[in-house]
Amino acid sequence: MKWTKTALKELEKAPEFVRDMARKKVEDTVTEKGEESVSLKDVQDVFEEYMSFMESGTQETTTNIAIVRCDRISEACPGSACLLSLQARKVNFKEYGENAQLVAMFTCGGCPGRRISRLLNNLIKTVKVDVVHLSSCMTKDAYQPPCPHREAIVTMIEKKGLTVVEGTHH
Ligand code: SF4
Repeated sequence: MKWTKTALKELEKAPEFVRDMARKKVEDTVTEKGEESVSLKDVQDVFEEYMSFMESGTQETTTNIAIVRCDRISEACPGSACLLSLQARKVNFKEYGENAQLVAMFTCGGCPGRRISRLLNNLIKTVKVDVVHLSSCMTKDAYQPPCPHREAIVTMIEKKGLTVVEGTHH
């Protein structure tokens, strides 16, 4: 296949170890178009397509999760069920992919959720938090009546622009 001088010069911008592969990709593309010679634009189009493919691969975002637990229940619960459920992507964590990670797990600090706002403000400034899970001990009545301050806590967290999920492991 014929190459124009400018097309060849453009191809030389590709790192040496991928140049043959790039040449083949360009020629295949030109052949698919039913043409017989490679222009500068053909090379630039293939490079551009490759760059957007690379960028889309690196743009995959991580979801940062914080879990808030009931302070009173934490006297009897080490939080393992919440953590194991997240690791196994079960129940309220089942929607998350590989890129989700736990960035914080803390107790509310006692009624009425004394330190949640302060700690979340710190986290927003330091690590990016996307979703806050309220532990199942706050939202279900398996251990005690659900947290009576839950509604106010959810509203307060949502006002910070964070998503709230009520529940963790059941
Ligand atoms: S505010 Fe709710 S979650 Fe916190 S200690 Fe009181 S009952 Fe538990």
